[in-house]
Amino acid sequence: MTALGDLLIARIARTGPITLADYMADCLMHPEHGYYATRDPFGAAGDFTTAPEISQMFGELIGLALAQAWIDQGQPAQITLAELGPGRGTLMQDALRATRGVPGFHQALSVHLVETSPTLRKAQSARIAHATWHDSIATLPDAPLYLIANEFFDALPIRQFIRSGDGWREKMVGVTDGALAFGLSAAAPIAAVEHRLTDTTEGDLVEICPSLPAITETIGAQIERSGGCALIIDYGDWQSLGDTLQALQSQSYSEPLATPGQADLTAHVDFAAVAAHAAPAKYTRLTSQGVFLERLGITARAQALSAKLAGEARTAHIAAHRRLTHPAEMGDLFKVIGLYPSTATPPPGLEP
Ligand code: SAH
Repeated sequence: MTALGDLLIARIARTGPITLADYMADCLMHPEHGYYATRDPFGAAGDFTTAPEISQMFGELIGLALAQAWIDQGQPAQITLAELGPGRGTLMQDALRATRGVPGFHQALSVHLVETSPTLRKAQSARIAHATWHDSIATLPDAPLYLIANEFFDALPIRQFIRSGDGWREKMVGVTDGALAFGLSAAAPIAAVEHRLTDTTEGDLVEICPSLPAITETIGAQIERSGGCALIIDYGDWQSLGDTLQALQSQSYSEPLATPGQADLTAHVDFAAVAAHAAPAKYTRLTSQGVFLERLGITARAQALSAKLAGEARTAHIAAHRRLTHPAEMGDLFKVIGLYPSTATPPPGLEP
């Protein structure tokens, strides 16, 4: 068992089983032993690779889309360019480079990064010269907000409930024979999943992300009040159904309870929950990443870059383009939803 596993076993022995959300929160963000708190997990040598790490085109197109949204909204003089969970800072670095030529954009923006991991903050500051860091979105300045969140919501802790009659049994993490083991609480009505009684049957599993509503409401309220837009990109779908908890270690799947603190834990994002909490801001149609990037012009950008490459670099570049957009790779699994003011047009590449 890992050091964090021993701590959790002792804690559960003292105070009883914990929810999956409590377990995930410790595994990911425990200050001493948490997965993100203690390492840089990205890239070929790490546990997983994300879109901005696959190709510079991803961050470039996102940056240009946000700059276009800023132009569409009349080029407000002082804006917040924010990213939630920026990882290594690659996306923001590419976005800033790509938008250098947009007249007035860099003069108007200040960069704000929401990141709790000290290790990743260090990696971000090596790539982004001028930024302000935040522990949560609560402290972002009150200015028009242009926000990106790529693979941020999937890292937020979830709870799981299994339908039992007209109530729910919650999946809990307890201890059996000295080891961490899943168990189920007694059936009870649960307000947060009451609305799922209409579209589920006995034994179905649904997931909720307890911190998603407040985060989305804060973003939606600020965008409606001050202007701006948000691009939320992640794997997931419209409404959760079934167990999507995933543990990833050294690019392969592992068992979520096996190595607490040493594997990445994620769950699919329920975009219906994002939409439900966006008001008073509007939300766009949920769009696949592949379609979104094609609409933003990724093929033209890929061709322009390709002309300067040869040999292995060219082959890798063509593979990266495919990996980001092809339905059999990330193109369909990953989705994009935009949030925007009720008085504005949707961000580029997205429809009302
Ligand atoms: N967006 C990056 C990284 C995705 S991994 C990319 O696409 O490569 C998830 C990121 O969210 C990490 O930077 C992690 O440290 C951060 N994170 C996870 N939970 C967080 C929380 N509750 N508050 C702030 N940052 C968080």
